[in-house]
Amino acid sequence: MEPKTVMTVPLYLDRRGYLRAVDRNYRGVLVHRACWEAHYPLHGSFHVHHINGNKTDNDMSNLAAMAPKIHRRLHRIGPLR
Ligand SMILES: [Zn+2]
Repeated sequence: MEPKTVMTVPLYLDRRGYLRAVDRNYRGVLVHRACWEAHYPLHGSFHVHHINGNKTDNDMSNLAAMAPKIHRRLHRIGPLR
């Protein structure tokens, strides 16, 4: 069996309720954006939306990338994040 490398990254909740990971420059990286970018390209201005409204649920099945305009419109319709 291949040896597994397990990395632990400090996480914290920011003031808006999003999980952030501390990167090597001690900056808080938004975990939902990093998760998306681990699978798909992400245009810098695009938002990553939490489909079920839970801002700490960063499973890929709960994330959707979209233009800010569309994202804002979605949030006006329902209490989603
Ligand atoms: Zn959203």
